[in-house]
Amino acid sequence: MGITRREFSRAASGLFAASHLSAAQQDPEGDDRRIGYCIVGLGRISMQHFMPATRTSKYSRVTALVSGHRDKAERMAAQYGVPSRSIYGYENFDSISENRDIDAVYIALPNSMHAEYTIRTAKAGKHVLCEKPMATSVADSQAMIDACRKAGRKLMIAYRCQLEPTHLRAIQLIREGKLGKIQAIESANGFNIRPGEWRITMALGGGGPLMDVGIYSLNACRYLTGEEPQELRAYTSVIDHDGRFNEVEENLSWTMRFPSGALASCNTTYGSNMPGYFRVHGSKGTMAMEQAFGYQGQHLTAQINGEPPIDDLSAAHDPSHFVTEADHFSDCVLHNREPKTPGEEGLRDMKWMSAIYGAAGRKTL
Ligand code: NAD
Repeated sequence: MGITRREFSRAASGLFAASHLSAAQQDPEGDDRRIGYCIVGLGRISMQHFMPATRTSKYSRVTALVSGHRDKAERMAAQYGVPSRSIYGYENFDSISENRDIDAVYIALPNSMHAEYTIRTAKAGKHVLCEKPMATSVADSQAMIDACRKAGRKLMIAYRCQLEPTHLRAIQLIREGKLGKIQAIESANGFNIRPGEWRITMALGGGGPLMDVGIYSLNACRYLTGEEPQELRAYTSVIDHDGRFNEVEENLSWTMRFPSGALASCNTTYGSNMPGYFRVHGSKGTMAMEQAFGYQGQHLTAQINGEPPIDDLSAAHDPSHFVTEADHFSDCVLHNREPKTPGEEGLRDMKWMSAIYGAAGRKTL
């Protein structure tokens, strides 16, 4: 039995709705309260993506800022209607505990700082939406989970693709058995990094492209198969001896075997603008997603034996990933629901990344 494109879209949107419940839709009392976010780290992801998304979000708003640059913070505060009393520096961050306008903290700092600010946020009694990778070590990841649990606060890792409708469609095709038994997955994601970025320092990045962008391929292999790897192999290389890769890998290639026997083969790099994609090869058909991990433009195609090809463009159902992400977490806070990608999901990736680095003979933090 095949699946028509319409059936496919309808079923997938149901799956999506279950994971992205709007507060007003779900609350019989029509609670339309918006969750107030304190933004920690005024860099690219927060200023260009997350904060603008809150402008169109129904359930999320920016109520406080944390930055080491007061002038930048004041400019952003003016744009988002944040009062000056709600602008903090890193040194007085802990006093957010007294600010009733802050429900949650969005952590968009260099990777190795996520743990410290998550733990401080939990101690301040606020919920945490933390960027990926969750941290730079398994021990830090576990400490973040423990701190949030102890404080009774929610922790979500910002895996936006797991809330994105095209990815959910891909997962559903597999779960419904449309591709048959998954034999192999290929995935890649990378970019050509500029010199001087914190990402190429071990102290702040915690590793190279695997931590930063390879994590998308790893996470996708796990959610596409619905399995955890059983065995893995990995290699790294440096080709450009131009000073960028004295501390972290330039290229990393790894393979994984899953309990079902499915094999995955992934590449990541800081030496080439490698558009993110995955391909899934099953016994009954194949599926591919181009622009898989970008901020928009996901494009899923599938060829199922004996069926017309599926050619699904995400543009039709694509609000910003960041609106979906913010509202999912706001909904969890408002209605005491478990986030779809809690700290435990970040910890699983962290354990596998640590194992991949180990298999490649690289040191980790
Ligand atoms: P960025 O360099 O643009 O911003 C980092 C921010 O941290 C800056 O405001 C910087 O001033 C601040 N900072 C504080 N202390 C610092 C220090 N000691 N060194 C350097 N910066 C310091 O980085 P970004 O691209 O916004 O990434 C931030 C986080 O978001 C990273 O963990 C990254 O992996 C993640 N990220 C996620 C996505 C996604 O799609 N989910 C995309 C990009 C980045």
